[in-house]
Amino acid sequence: MENLSNISVVREIMERFGFSFSKSLGQNFLVNPTVCPRIAEQGGAAAEKGVLEIGAGFGVLTHELAKRAGKVVVVELDGRLLPVLQYTLSEHKNVSVVQGDVLKLDLRALLEREFGGMETVVCANLPYYITSPVIMTLLEQRLPVSAITVMVQKEAAERLCAPMPSRACGAVTAAVRYYSDPKALFPVSRGSFMPAPNVDSAVIRLDVKKTGSLTEKEEQLLFKLVRGGFSQRRKTLANALFSAASVPKALAADALQAVGLKASVRAEGLSLVDWMALACFLQQAGVLPGSI
Ligand code: SAM
Repeated sequence: MENLSNISVVREIMERFGFSFSKSLGQNFLVNPTVCPRIAEQGGAAAEKGVLEIGAGFGVLTHELAKRAGKVVVVELDGRLLPVLQYTLSEHKNVSVVQGDVLKLDLRALLEREFGGMETVVCANLPYYITSPVIMTLLEQRLPVSAITVMVQKEAAERLCAPMPSRACGAVTAAVRYYSDPKALFPVSRGSFMPAPNVDSAVIRLDVKKTGSLTEKEEQLLFKLVRGGFSQRRKTLANALFSAASVPKALAADALQAVGLKASVRAEGLSLVDWMALACFLQQAGVLPGSI
């Protein structure tokens, strides 16, 4: 296929298929020729691996993935793109396109059916309106993928990869760190897309941890505490946990002391290990995830 990063080629395809960009589907297609090869390389696309891509567009990234990976399956919601992809990806025999909403498909069944025992990674230029739900679905369901390499808005990348503790971290930072080791790979300017969005982007990679280190109940409690703590991040953690998660103030104070934290600490002052220790302490003290 001709160069899909070439704006004239993109325009020609649009004309040939009568295609127009849908803003509501987050359709900003990559037209910077250096970006897709880097995502494919740094995302780990390799002959012995499978790749799940989310959102094909005209297939510019799919093409780079298919050149390197054993097999590529791409989920695309917009049915208008199916004939386009048949045309642009016709040279690749290792690509399947699945039409559907990535948030509604049974991804576990899809991964099992398409990749069997093959090591699988996710690579995508994600539609921005579903960045967090997609990442959290992949991680929380513990789907069998070893890494998730995605283009997201620059601000989302900063939040997702923020160190803990730090001012930049939030509930999603803790969740991502619980399930994976996040790494910011490289920035991508808004001019790399057609049409150009109003924001800059960045590519991040989440190397998925094999197993969680807490029991299911401790895990549920951990995420309730994290959500409660960050929902009122200006308050001290003890006050935030009291008002947002109904943890009695005296018990919160005991828990903070037991895990070696100051009574005045705020949510952003905790490391992931601190949050986990807090969840274990409160669970042993009889706090159930359902009771807060
Ligand atoms: N990969 C292409 C590229 O880099 O040029 C397209 C990326 S574009 C940012 C996002 C793509 O995701 C669009 O093709 C859009 O139609 C598709 N999409 C949007 N919502 C989706 C969903 N819920 N499930 C699957 N694909 C979706």
